[in-house]
Amino acid sequence: MNALEEKLNRFVKYRISEEDVRLLIDHLKQKAPVYAPHNSGEASFSYELVEKSTDVVLQYPRTMQPIKKFFLPPKEVLLNFNIKDNTYSKPEVPEETRIFFGIHSYEMASLKRLDYSFTQGHRESNYISRRKYAIFVGISYEPDESHFSKSVGIDVEETEGFDLFLLKNDTGYFLLEITETGKKLLDGYKENLVPDREELKLEPLRFKSKIKYHHNRLPSVFDHVYKSKVWEKYAEICVGCGTCNLLCSTCYCFDIRDEVELDAEHGSRTRYWDGCMLNTFAEVAGGENFRGSLARRTRHRLYRKFRYITAKSEMLHCVGCGRCSHYCPVGISMTDIVNDLIADHEEKQKREKI
Ligand code: SF4
Ligand code: SF4
Repeated sequence: MNALEEKLNRFVKYRISEEDVRLLIDHLKQKAPVYAPHNSGEASFSYELVEKSTDVVLQYPRTMQPIKKFFLPPKEVLLNFNIKDNTYSKPEVPEETRIFFGIHSYEMASLKRLDYSFTQGHRESNYISRRKYAIFVGISYEPDESHFSKSVGIDVEETEGFDLFLLKNDTGYFLLEITETGKKLLDGYKENLVPDREELKLEPLRFKSKIKYHHNRLPSVFDHVYKSKVWEKYAEICVGCGTCNLLCSTCYCFDIRDEVELDAEHGSRTRYWDGCMLNTFAEVAGGENFRGSLARRTRHRLYRKFRYITAKSEMLHCVGCGRCSHYCPVGISMTDIVNDLIADHEEKQKREKI
């Protein structure tokens, strides 16, 4: 039995069918609003408020927008002001219980990164208020051609951060009680369920997309590739659309705009998601741009994921969700870039030894 199996076997678990999972959603809806993956197009998925448990998609590759949209909305009014009497007011951010159902482990891991980023230095109170009473029910998934979370140290069956976890098996799911909160949530649901005492064994999952080094070695690779030719290689095909930033689970950069109404008296300060791959991101007064080239912007994006914040937080800030690779309009893959950087680093090491 490996360490992960040992950990999973310590939790109380129940064997339930897919129909039971939908009954569980109905049960949870009586406790708090439930958000879960829904179809939002032929092959597209989105987290939405659950109206009917039958609408929830249990097995899906990934949602287009990450779960961060609930805690850091794409657009948010931070304050309303009045220029005439020099006053302002802040919209109230409710601290409410919400249940997020059917969440993948990389998504939960991304919130751990955002928790870190928003509690360092000046604490981001709006994010913290929205995050405070959130409850999470995880679910296992089948990796597709873009997932690579295993390469960044996050197993599909990682339960950290979840209150309950659903692990797919041949006949349905194992329902695992992870926390006391999770256990309480099952009051009134599990009365007819008997804990399953059979030893749980994990089926090996195959990730098609992989990084060829162990994740512990990645930050040190980035100590040597700042001047790599790899940045130019990808800059030649990148169109600078910023999709990779805007859909990223862990990106949190934003722009602040003050907008004044036509009465020249009232206005609002609004925060919008922003991304370092967009040309205007590092532009300053006078039209100067600190990262005017796509090569520089690509390098900055990768260093933010594997080096800069990692040095302080001791966590890689890429969780391997694969959104950036999957939705890139020109097919640039995160694992291809990192593997090319590793190859370039190895070449350089060989040359230095000669
Ligand atoms: S999504 Fe692709 S094309 Fe768009 S900025 Fe990112 S790497 Fe470039
Ligand atoms: S960099 Fe790409 S794979 Fe990594 S967390 Fe962001 S979107 Fe996901």
